[in-house]
Amino acid sequence: MSFSLLGLSPPLCAAAGAAGFKEPTPVQNQAIAAVLQGQDVLACAQTGSGKTAAFALPLLQRALDAALAGRGAAGERRAHTLVVVPTRELAVQVGEVFKGLAQTLPLPLKITVVFGGVSINPQMMGLRRGTDIVVATPGRLLDLVDHNTLALDAVRSLVLDEADRMLDAGFSEELQRVVAMLPAKRQNLFFSATFAPAVTALAQRLLHKPLRIDVLPQTGATPDITQRAIAVDPRARTQLVRHLIQEAGWSRALVFVATKYAAEIVADKLRKAGIDAEPLHGQLSQGKRTQVLDDFKASRIRVVVATDLAARGIDVVQLPVVVNYDLPRSADDYTHRIGRTGRSGEAGLAVSLVSADTQAHWRLIEKRQSLDVALETVEGFEPTLTATATDMSGNGGVKGKRPSKKDKLRAAAQAALPHA
Ligand code: AMP
Repeated sequence: MSFSLLGLSPPLCAAAGAAGFKEPTPVQNQAIAAVLQGQDVLACAQTGSGKTAAFALPLLQRALDAALAGRGAAGERRAHTLVVVPTRELAVQVGEVFKGLAQTLPLPLKITVVFGGVSINPQMMGLRRGTDIVVATPGRLLDLVDHNTLALDAVRSLVLDEADRMLDAGFSEELQRVVAMLPAKRQNLFFSATFAPAVTALAQRLLHKPLRIDVLPQTGATPDITQRAIAVDPRARTQLVRHLIQEAGWSRALVFVATKYAAEIVADKLRKAGIDAEPLHGQLSQGKRTQVLDDFKASRIRVVVATDLAARGIDVVQLPVVVNYDLPRSADDYTHRIGRTGRSGEAGLAVSLVSADTQAHWRLIEKRQSLDVALETVEGFEPTLTATATDMSGNGGVKGKRPSKKDKLRAAAQAALPHA
């Protein structure tokens, strides 16, 4: 299938070509025609599948058609396309896709990106003369509406991108407020990598007879990611990461840790070992986070040590390696993390560090992901610690089912009993 056969007009096909898109990805193949026709869409698609362009290309075409048909007597711009995303990084990224594709269109379209954590004033100034397309995080979007800088009553198309992340980040109430301000008659496009019950419930409330798109299972377009698990003592993990980076010559790696503190410490230790590394977490200023991501994308730094929150929405083409320094809490988070590599058809590597106390947790992630990954050791880093009965009991701490303190005490007491 080609972009033109999907119904995109020549300027949009040219924009896709200029972006280097030779042919549509599976999610684009399925979504573009439906979006052009104004249909609602419910898509299960991972970052890396080309999902942003799957809605950006047809929405730009609709915006262009509307602009060509005339913008109203005063020529004023009213936001008719609203894309809501969970994080600042994703807002910037989605905004860049829209702006990149809009560059060569015969009429200029105004695309405004707004997010919190930075001063609201420039964003208010930017919206003074109206806008065509808004990409926003929910909190700042509501702030701008409250300041009467932005009206949502002309929105014809709403996109919720990474809806699962949006609910995870606790934006449920904000979303309800946003949706309540939109015209009842509108197009809804709902993208999510996972479909937990809360996500499905939100989709059911929002969507009207949606086209359901399920990219990964149907097309087999699973990214080419090699998954490895290495047994190591917790204290030796930083040294092992350093060893792997240097031995394997990884050009860049994204290392996931559980806390902001760990992000700082691990990045610092790697830097002291001569590896350009920077932490990335929610407590850094927006300017710093953007800087780290820009430096990473431009290969000015080799390693980013990130928490899950800060790493959402990172799109670095040719990111060869993801390391789970700390294992993710849930199997869904595992999928999300490793999906940061192996993008756009590139091969990727995901390495999980497993220590005695996280072995049971690893086995559960494996089971839930239907993986069968041999636990390797690396010479010089063989673990010396073994799992205790407590570590091996329960479910390994998978989110929502982590054994309570009481469970652990009970298991420890059980293990201490003399065997009959
Ligand atoms: P996304 O899933 O939107 O985060 O996109 C992931 C990456 O795929 C981005 O770097 C896009 O530039 C790239 N991409 C999107 N559509 C295509 C296409 N049709 N052909 C090649 N690359 C694409």
